[in-house]
Amino acid sequence: MNTNELWQAVLGELELSLSKANFTTWFKNTFISDLEEHAITIGVPNMFTKAWLEKKYTKEILRSLQELTKNSIKQLSYRVQSRPTNPQGMPLFEKGTNPEPSPSPSNQQASYYQPQQTHEVKEIRTGEFSLNGKYCFETFIVGKQNELAHAAAQAVCAQPGGIYNPLFIYGGVGLGKTHILQAIGNELIRKNANTKILYVTCERFTNDFIGALRSNRIVEFKNRYRTVDVLLVDDIQFITGKEGTQEEFFHTFNQLYQNNKQIVISSDRPPKTIPALEDRLVSRFECGMLADVGSPDFETRCAILDTKCLEKQYSLERDILHHIATVVQTNVRELEGALNKVIAFHQFKNTRPTLESVKPILSSFQPTSTKKNITPKQLIITVANYFDIHMDDLLGKSRQKRLAFPRQIVMYIMREEMKASYPSIGMELGGRDHTTAMHAYDKIMTCLLEDEKLQHDIELIKQKLYAL
Ligand code: ADP
Ligand code: MG
Repeated sequence: MNTNELWQAVLGELELSLSKANFTTWFKNTFISDLEEHAITIGVPNMFTKAWLEKKYTKEILRSLQELTKNSIKQLSYRVQSRPTNPQGMPLFEKGTNPEPSPSPSNQQASYYQPQQTHEVKEIRTGEFSLNGKYCFETFIVGKQNELAHAAAQAVCAQPGGIYNPLFIYGGVGLGKTHILQAIGNELIRKNANTKILYVTCERFTNDFIGALRSNRIVEFKNRYRTVDVLLVDDIQFITGKEGTQEEFFHTFNQLYQNNKQIVISSDRPPKTIPALEDRLVSRFECGMLADVGSPDFETRCAILDTKCLEKQYSLERDILHHIATVVQTNVRELEGALNKVIAFHQFKNTRPTLESVKPILSSFQPTSTKKNITPKQLIITVANYFDIHMDDLLGKSRQKRLAFPRQIVMYIMREEMKASYPSIGMELGGRDHTTAMHAYDKIMTCLLEDEKLQHDIELIKQKLYAL
């Protein structure tokens, strides 16, 4: 185990508890700069990050480090220092290869390495934006839950701009949407290095557009986006409510589409259910291929763990692998996080994992429903956000369907997940009668039997709830 791997393991844990934006903002370009027997120094890119990490995250980082090092680290400090270039051009937090032994004299660090100094970065450049080479089809495990999305993605690669245009992939967090989008990009580049591929998150598109407007560079912006062969847009749901960006995206979309250029979009939900998305965009998104990705079943989870072990060149006994796949059921990202944790822990202790040693490490990965104590207020806020309605309206008297239905969903989840009594559900929902809560629960139960969209909505709400 080297410092890179230790830091990867810490980041892996932090990533699970933070929003993506927060995680990227504060942990981008951080690394272990120095490690002595009980003290560790984290290299950070600037003073601002240093101050922020000191104030907000020291406790969490230290806890995680201690867990991974059997409490040997007692002290944590930060130093402003630029991160040595990543040797493989892997993304931000990848571990380096070919490390050099640490110059530290202490025995304890005999197996630690300093991060690699400089090296040429081998990134696949696609204009200004880069694809991550590790997200390819070879490393993507196909199961029932994603076979449609996978097949469609392959069809897109066989014939970009063909019948699956646009391809719209949707599903909950950590289920492989970004992986598929990037795999398409990587595959097409591999087939033809001259293909102009642009991978952007919706956030990036929005910021680019706003930046272009501000600096009077709208022509350049249009040129950049409208002249590509393949446009991959990740997490389009964030376009909700941004009218100017929607308008611009609509025109970008049309231009590319008319020229038979391929467009692939991902979202956490189907087009129709993205709040405040213009109808004309909904209908554009729906005119191609819609494919969902769901949670992997047990067998697929085992297969994914197998591949990840292979990638990491680490072997695990069957029973341990099965245990991980049983305990972590939510999504692939968490599955990977759990595996990293197990590996890091044992590499550090220099022991082989056994079922007994693995169980306590994974105790925090409980099945979703018992994972956390969710409060009614958190649930109400999550549902209100999901449907893009105001909390007061959700709790209010109006019986409009757009409010009444989400309200019934809240009642259903409160009963199902939180085991709340009907009278208390009524109380939480703005002082309603317990019979209202009973009725709501029955109604949603009945609808769930055949309404797949509702099943999907509730699944996503739960995921968001437990990701809080
Ligand atoms: P999303 O974009 O849907 O939130 P990601 O594509 O970022 O999810 O996936 C999260 C992690 O799980 C990534 O490291 C990805 O490589 C991995 N992953 C997801 N699905 C699969 C799969 N079917 N096979 C292998 N790895 C997967
Ligand atoms: Mg993603």
